[in-house]
Amino acid sequence: MNHESTNPSLIVTHYGENPEEQFGAVVPPIYQNSLNVYPTVDCYLNGGDEHHPYVYMRVSNPTIRLAEQKIAALEKAEDALCFASGMAAISSTTLACVKSGDHIVAVRNCYGPQYSFMSSYLARFGVTVTFVAGERVEDFVEATQDNTTLFYLESPTSINFRLQDLSAIAQFAKSKGIFTLIDNSWATPIYQQPITLGIDAVLHSASKYLGGHSDIVAGVLCGSKEFIARVQGQERAMLGGILHPQQAFLLTRGLRTLPIRMKNHQESALAVARFLEGHPKVKAVNYPGLESHPQYALGRSQMSGYSGLMSFELKTDDREQIASFVDRLEWFQIGCSWGGHESLAIPPMLNTPQEHLDEIGSSRGLIRISIGHEGAETLIADLEASLEKVRV
Ligand SMILES: *Cc1c(COP(=O)(O)O)cnc(C)c1O
Repeated sequence: MNHESTNPSLIVTHYGENPEEQFGAVVPPIYQNSLNVYPTVDCYLNGGDEHHPYVYMRVSNPTIRLAEQKIAALEKAEDALCFASGMAAISSTTLACVKSGDHIVAVRNCYGPQYSFMSSYLARFGVTVTFVAGERVEDFVEATQDNTTLFYLESPTSINFRLQDLSAIAQFAKSKGIFTLIDNSWATPIYQQPITLGIDAVLHSASKYLGGHSDIVAGVLCGSKEFIARVQGQERAMLGGILHPQQAFLLTRGLRTLPIRMKNHQESALAVARFLEGHPKVKAVNYPGLESHPQYALGRSQMSGYSGLMSFELKTDDREQIASFVDRLEWFQIGCSWGGHESLAIPPMLNTPQEHLDEIGSSRGLIRISIGHEGAETLIADLEASLEKVRV
């Protein structure tokens, strides 16, 4: 059962596991040890052998390794590394890709803390960044400088759900020797495998769909053997942001149902998106799975499906109308994050100044919703009831 696998259902259920090696236990144990011991001084001094490949938990651990092997296989990457959070993975990997004097081109609507990490934090070390909309390949071409070493992508973005053309951007980056990194938390490897499109390395907040139950914070980096070994020895070991084994156990447990959860998220989200699109009090729906999405064709060419996070815009700019629309929802709880069993709703632009909204082409009445597993009928009825009371 421990064979190589390219089938996601077999990867999450069996890949990397061998019950024979653990007394027939069908679930791999949690290795909770900080250090490993060796039979001889020679073995210790040689850095172990095939029966003693582990040294110390900050560097690696069998429970963490299993989650890494499964996620690498799902992403069709050579290898992967788990981190204590999505941001630990993202910031550690970004640091691995730049040195003083380097320049990054990044998608403007990327995850907020990474926007701040690149624009403010890295500025202290003389790293500069140009943010681009990213919907045109030319956005990247035109922003590239002689000292550009990294393109940072997130497709789709998680507020307005716009895409980047991954193959075309990867091809241009390769011709210039620029490294490409993407945050793939939204699509997950079930629906998008950026490495197969030429992207160098993939990042996840595993706190979202990979974990899938809103009970862990975790991050993953996937890439080539060589890149992963370098980040493992440097940024992960030196900054120390490795995942904890108990969290890795829950991550592997969450992965078991990733393919079926994503299928359910997609089915419910498409039904909700179509309902919203047809509602007279809704100005726009931002969801790559709708034929009306401006980049629907691009999405079809690089993704095999769609997850459960989207946004839509109410036909009102009235603060009180927007807030009470969200307050009235029964099954959509109010909270950030996403990717779990529970549906969520937030109005992320409620306090954004109008000039800034105009600049980013968004509106105050934008509502971001995460579709959980309550069932599309229940969720649509909930949205419909609250929309009914909105005055436009
Ligand atoms: C939540 C999130 C992150 C950060 O992940 P944490 O696990 O919370 O550190 C990164 N990217 C995206 C798109 C996210 O939604």
